[in-house]
Amino acid sequence: MSKSPEAGVSVIEELTEAGVVTADSEQDDIELTDSFHDDWQRRIEQLEKKGPIHYLALMLGVEPRALTLRDHGGQFTVSHGSDTIGEWPSEAAILADVAVATLLLEWWPAWADLDGPLRDELLARFRVFLETCPDCEGEIEPREPDDTDRLVPQLVCSQCDAVLL
Ligand SMILES: [Zn+2]
Repeated sequence: MSKSPEAGVSVIEELTEAGVVTADSEQDDIELTDSFHDDWQRRIEQLEKKGPIHYLALMLGVEPRALTLRDHGGQFTVSHGSDTIGEWPSEAAILADVAVATLLLEWWPAWADLDGPLRDELLARFRVFLETCPDCEGEIEPREPDDTDRLVPQLVCSQCDAVLL
């Protein structure tokens, strides 16, 4: 996987071939295929029982108890010892990402070869496709951010206020 400017296009082409996304002709954009969307919802429900940290640890090949989840007032970090594994705007976002990452491994094996920043970017883009909150199944709605430096609306659960993006 190259980091050329065309990388984004080829990833979308590959995801289309893998049956993960499909062209949305009405909006001149892409959307998830129904089968990937359904699998994602099912996966979220499965992961919810033990919580995303358990599966994040499995993916990283570490003991679940070696990972620490911290809430920094609206910003969640997961760390392993002194290494920060990642940052998320909510626990619901961690759940969504871990569910997509485990599914992509099955649907599109090339996922395993992507470099870290590209994976993170793709995972965040997948969260835009969420229709319901991974935590409480509330409706996701765009909301104007409090932070005026931010140019795009946040995606927030209308029921539990979890920030997804
Ligand atoms: Zn919610």
